[in-house]
Amino acid sequence: MRVISELGNLVFSEEVDRWVWKENVDGGFTQKSLWEATRAKAPRVSLAKWLWSTKNVPRHAFVTWLLFQNKLSTRDRLCRWGMHVSTQCVFCSCSESQEHLFFACEFTAQLWRLVLQKLGLYRRTCGWQQERAWCIEYLKGRSLKRRIGQIALMSTVHTIWMERNGRVFGGVASFLDRLYYRILNDVYTELAPGEELRRPSKIRWLA
Ligand SMILES: [Zn+2]
Repeated sequence: MRVISELGNLVFSEEVDRWVWKENVDGGFTQKSLWEATRAKAPRVSLAKWLWSTKNVPRHAFVTWLLFQNKLSTRDRLCRWGMHVSTQCVFCSCSESQEHLFFACEFTAQLWRLVLQKLGLYRRTCGWQQERAWCIEYLKGRSLKRRIGQIALMSTVHTIWMERNGRVFGGVASFLDRLYYRILNDVYTELAPGEELRRPSKIRWLA
């Protein structure tokens, strides 16, 4: 009875019926509005200015960009896609995810802490969501100190991802200090391109 009484309140128009795409104000369909309606939305981050600098090593910047976009193919994602792979982190016995790998994993956390200490930063490290927020805030800006931090982050992310891939696909596992000096080397050579790095331990970063 209620439905029938509600129907009595409906007002019919003389206009011809037509389809309306609610994602656009004018009701018209566009591919852009479809993309906006279906894409996974994440807050915009102010990375573009430094992440896509032509001074960066492209492969370092690209892997870091994938990480910030939560697009790295970590084992938890592969399992969600239906692939039958181990979920175990190659550095420890925990489950592998971006959150874990950057930098909740004890192995990668130790590496990241060493890099941060080289920057003069002594802080507790967390999983990726917290580190991500910290990086966005701390690394913005154009000072030399920030530039060193940006290079260090990009190199650390790339180094961890390459080491992870190497171990996944049966490569030789590197010790932590070897990875650390690789990152030092990256920072040095990106800051002073063309110069030979003979003794990484002599590198002095701004603290
Ligand atoms: Zn781990």
